[in-house]
Amino acid sequence: MTGTWLITGARPLGGDPADVLVSGEAVAEIGPGLDAPGSQRLDADGLILLPGLVDLHTHLREPGREDAETVASGTAAAALGGYTTVHAMANTEPVADTAGVVEQVWRLGRQAGRCDVQPVGAVTAGLEGSRLAELGAMADSAARVRVFSDDGQCVHDAVLMRRALEYVRAFGGVIAQHAQEPRLTSGAQVNEGEISGRLGLAGWPAVAEEAIVARDCLLAAHVGSALHVCHVSTSGSVEIIRWAKAKGWQVTAEVTPHHLLLTEALAGGYDPVFKVNPPLRTAEDVQALRAGLADGTIDCVATDHAPHPLEDKETEWQAAAFGMTGLETALRVVHEALVQPGLLDWAGVADRMSARPAAIGRLSGHGRVAPGEPASLVLYDPSPREAVDPASHASKSRNTPFAGMVLPGRVVATFLRGRPTVLDGKLAW
Ligand SMILES: [Zn+2]
Repeated sequence: MTGTWLITGARPLGGDPADVLVSGEAVAEIGPGLDAPGSQRLDADGLILLPGLVDLHTHLREPGREDAETVASGTAAAALGGYTTVHAMANTEPVADTAGVVEQVWRLGRQAGRCDVQPVGAVTAGLEGSRLAELGAMADSAARVRVFSDDGQCVHDAVLMRRALEYVRAFGGVIAQHAQEPRLTSGAQVNEGEISGRLGLAGWPAVAEEAIVARDCLLAAHVGSALHVCHVSTSGSVEIIRWAKAKGWQVTAEVTPHHLLLTEALAGGYDPVFKVNPPLRTAEDVQALRAGLADGTIDCVATDHAPHPLEDKETEWQAAAFGMTGLETALRVVHEALVQPGLLDWAGVADRMSARPAAIGRLSGHGRVAPGEPASLVLYDPSPREAVDPASHASKSRNTPFAGMVLPGRVVATFLRGRPTVLDGKLAW
């Protein structure tokens, strides 16, 4: 289905309407009144044109939990959400801690074909936090791993964290930390505060995140290496990262769509669809996260798409799994939380959801809509306001906290290197 496409009337980065000629895998030309006889045409009047989105934090669950998600279903969900690259987290079964497993995940992504899959390698063998995984072998593998994370677990041993930062410095890699001091969060279920007290659930204090963020910023500075902070959830973490960046240290950070829109109050109904790690926080935290993303302290939005089968979520709160799906709603949530209030324009969305995550992932060929660049694109209609319908999702799992919530916008089309993966809001093939 590659060939030549003429996309007419779209608004690149929300600017003035233009036509975009896609030839083969690349954008050939952008301008008014383009003509290309024989090309396939896509009427994009009123649609926003953005570079294909890049997610630094996706759980695809394969190998091992194909009942929750597969590379094929997860990349279909990604395409429907406007993504052209996802980073697949390492907490699979087996864990992605060797060249063999990361190459398997990378190949499954190539076979699925709807979205590039860039594997994340584990920092420690088996995510057990006791010895480093084969970081160099994963970096040298066909998957060319540059981002390493024990996500789901915190690399809480300061010596191991230091060694990991030192190791990846040699090849320009980055350690993505799930910042959660384990002793301070033993048994924790919801944000520590008035709500945890009222619900009678063990509290998850902000300091459990902030203490690790602060320590790791200092470690990254000490060894001169790159730290990425996963799913920042508290105003204190934003302040620490702002301070580290002001020092000129190599620290980047992400925030999830759910932490940009939802608060701990939703836990009040004991519905485990709102159970997530880190937990939903206060309205003040949400405001600080939005401001941090808007001013660039937080570099990017990352979904932490965490699919779970029904039986793992529809149970009592304490027994339910942590996590929410997010690929198919992320752009709409960012529209609602950042664009509608005027905190980000569409160029800012392109930066925070495509260019910057690609840069953190050490990927080229992402984040720009320009002649000569790969035609990995998303066309987004900002005008509708509709309830989120999980039944329409391609993810194998239905644990979206946004079900039934009225959100703006709709992803109309996604192109991966010139080939449409989504047309008219549906999978193109
Ligand atoms: Zn995590």
